[in-house]
Amino acid sequence: MTSAATSRVVLKSAREIELMRAAGLLVRSILDAIEKIARPGATTNEMNAVADRMIREAGATALFLGVEHPSAKNPFPASICASLNEEVVHGIPNDRPLVEGDIVSIDCGVRLKGYCGDHARTFAIGEVSPEANRLLEVTSGALDLAIREMRPGLAWSKVARRMQTYVQDAGFGVVRNYVGHGIGREMHEEPKVPNYVDPDGDFRLTPGLVVAIEPMVTAGSAATRQVGRDGWAVVTRDGSLAAHFEHTVAVTDKGVRVLTGASDKAAARDGENES
Ligand code: MG
Ligand code: MG
Repeated sequence: MTSAATSRVVLKSAREIELMRAAGLLVRSILDAIEKIARPGATTNEMNAVADRMIREAGATALFLGVEHPSAKNPFPASICASLNEEVVHGIPNDRPLVEGDIVSIDCGVRLKGYCGDHARTFAIGEVSPEANRLLEVTSGALDLAIREMRPGLAWSKVARRMQTYVQDAGFGVVRNYVGHGIGREMHEEPKVPNYVDPDGDFRLTPGLVVAIEPMVTAGSAATRQVGRDGWAVVTRDGSLAAHFEHTVAVTDKGVRVLTGASDKAAARDGENES
């Protein structure tokens, strides 16, 4: 729990958390719309067009569009990341029709009225293999587990340990090269939010803290590499499948609110404190 890491954390007021809920609901509605077309024959460019239109209609901005990366020649060209099968994150949408058995991770971030929301889900395209099904179940399960474990005052490493153990006990890998993050006016704020126990960095779940929690899980080894002429997509080094689920979550003095959730009812841990 380094002071350097915690000193740059920007806590949010109740009013700011309401604004972030609005951004979270927008990005949730975008992924809901994309889920409806996530079937064989659809393309990730069509999914990106859905996101573009909904972001424009809401008067929001796409956070990923135009982002620069040291390994990439060009800024990111789309409103969503679409990462197929062995791609972990940062895939660029394209015109290749999805086929039965694919899994595709869609990540979307928006800024609405000055505040950000960040949300990702991996979709099964038609019938997928038992291994792919289990991977999706365990990755979303790790995110749900984290949200259930979180409570004000707890060290993040306690939550991360539960996630890491849960994923590894299922026989899967926890990606270490990419982690979650604080979020607010900016998409990426302090602190870093690893999905594993990181001896070099921990923080407390202080009321007002808002974090994007985003387990990235692999069916094989968790090692990743950056590929492609575009320099964006990150894939598993061994070619195994990867999945990614993400929620934007606010810590309150009663519990947590899942700002990109269907219901953001405070998940109070200690019911006796509820009035
Ligand atoms: Mg994201
Ligand atoms: Mg994120």
